[in-house]
Amino acid sequence: MTRELQCPDCEFMIRSESTDQLVEMVQQHAKESHDMEMSRSDVMDIARTV
Ligand SMILES: [Zn+2]
Repeated sequence: MTRELQCPDCEFMIRSESTDQLVEMVQQHAKESHDMEMSRSDVMDIARTV
C-alpha cells in the first residue's frame, strides 16, 4: 500500500510504499525543518493512501 503525505506547514511531500520509511522520513523532516516531534500516530493521522 502506497502512502503519501503533504506537510501541513510547507511544500514537503513524500510518497512511500513502506510505512516505516514514511514515518521515519516525516519525523526527520518535522524535526529538522520545524523543530517538531511527531509520533507515529501523528504521522499516520495526516498520511493518505494513494
Ligand atoms: Zn514541512
